[in-house]
Amino acid sequence: STQEQTPQICVVGSGPAGFYTAQHLLKHHSRAHVDIYEKQLVPFGLVRFGVAPDHPEVKNVINTFTQTAHSDRCAFHGNVAVGRDVTVPELREAYHAVVLSYGAEDHRALEIPGEELPGVFSARAFVGWYNGLPENRELAPDLSCDTAVILGQGNVALDVARILLTPLEHLEKTDITEASLRVLRQSRVKMVWIVGRRGPLQAAFTIKELREMIQLPGTRPILDPADFLGLQDRIQEAPRPRRRLTELLLRTASEKPVREEAAGQALASRAWGLRFFRSPQQVLPSPDGRRVAGIRLAVTRLEGTGEAACAVPTGDTEDLPCGLVLSSVGYKSRPIDPSVPFDPKLGVIPNVEGRVADVPGLYCSGWVKRGPSGVIGTTMTDSFLTSQTLLQDLKAGLLPSGPRPGYSAIEALLSSRGVRPISFSDWEKLDAEEVSRGQGAGKPREKLLDPREMLRLLGR
Ligand code: FAD
Repeated sequence: STQEQTPQICVVGSGPAGFYTAQHLLKHHSRAHVDIYEKQLVPFGLVRFGVAPDHPEVKNVINTFTQTAHSDRCAFHGNVAVGRDVTVPELREAYHAVVLSYGAEDHRALEIPGEELPGVFSARAFVGWYNGLPENRELAPDLSCDTAVILGQGNVALDVARILLTPLEHLEKTDITEASLRVLRQSRVKMVWIVGRRGPLQAAFTIKELREMIQLPGTRPILDPADFLGLQDRIQEAPRPRRRLTELLLRTASEKPVREEAAGQALASRAWGLRFFRSPQQVLPSPDGRRVAGIRLAVTRLEGTGEAACAVPTGDTEDLPCGLVLSSVGYKSRPIDPSVPFDPKLGVIPNVEGRVADVPGLYCSGWVKRGPSGVIGTTMTDSFLTSQTLLQDLKAGLLPSGPRPGYSAIEALLSSRGVRPISFSDWEKLDAEEVSRGQGAGKPREKLLDPREMLRLLGR
């Protein structure tokens, strides 16, 4: 049975879901071999291209992922886009099981007029730009305006606000790209509004990220005390994290700053504010129609209470002048291959405990399984569960019996198609180059942005 042979398993995507799935499979099966396919040249998904540059501690998971990649039963194959360079049916032919963990790479559109105007970006693209995602390296956002509006109130929205407002001398010590530092140095953005359709009790960011904003040097928070009326009494029954978050918001909105802080805040040349109960209705163009000049917000009120409350428009609107709009209203997975079931409404692969509905031997983990929310820790738990399901099926004899060729079959296919994969040791060469380029500037690394240059460095 497959149990006694070497189960050949492949994982699609090398973000936290891919690596944690591989880690669990290798740990709990003594012979399983795991190949990880990744469409970027480099590994680690959103840990490299999402997590904010000023949160280096979050990226420590890369050490664990690197250990997994070093296992002699694991191989990394970068520069291979599944669905384009190789299909899912081809992978299913070559492996006993295939795990899809390719994340959620699209952004949710605002679906309002003016969304296409220059000066409107998805937070996804903006984050990709400062984090060195090759496809976003030409983004060149114009930061010559004084007000930016971020639509959405999750942690990604706060990441983006923080990057726009953090003093440059702090960012210069991080792995943010030099190209984006050059643009940020010219930035004239002084005010950042972070807009949410619902109220303070529904804000999706967490307390650590909020506290960082409140303590951001050279900036002051702007909160409207009217948004918080009556909240004190309503939060007593809320779960503890929500209660603590709301208490911090309340304190910030109502407290007079202590003296030194007040002095600091009076000096603060930059500000950020949370604007609640506002839903984007239209991006307003400049008189010449060439770029964004503002945003029209519909004023809302809540129907229902708690996390499930709905924002409904009151009929009033408010125009907020701004030169930059960043929409941070969520991510979305793409269908990968016509053979794989996909729920376009939820933007996930329909599955039961990680088993893809109606396709034996096919599994999923991470954001493509659960939808695009949750931190790396949530993604870890979820990926371990998928691996467990897979190993149970293997044990129960539900996976194909008989040997499977694994990578050797795929390697031949890729080579016939002119695709040249990047191995983990190739990545380690690029990694060393990045670290050495960062050294002069006191940065942990200077990311390589151009895939052609990366290939050249590898002698391709
Ligand atoms: P991803 O990390 O997106 O990995 C998917 C991988 O699949 C990518 O490498 C992608 O290139 C690859 N791929 C896609 N399509 C294909 C294909 N066709 N073929 C081959 N490979 C493919 N969590 C925290 O805990 N702390 C934070 O500070 C934090 N900051 C975040 C900041 C941002 C901007 C975002 C968006 C998320 C952040 N998160 C943070 C959440 C965390 O990043 C996610 O929980 C986690 O990355 C999800 O893992 P994943 O593997 O499902 O997706």
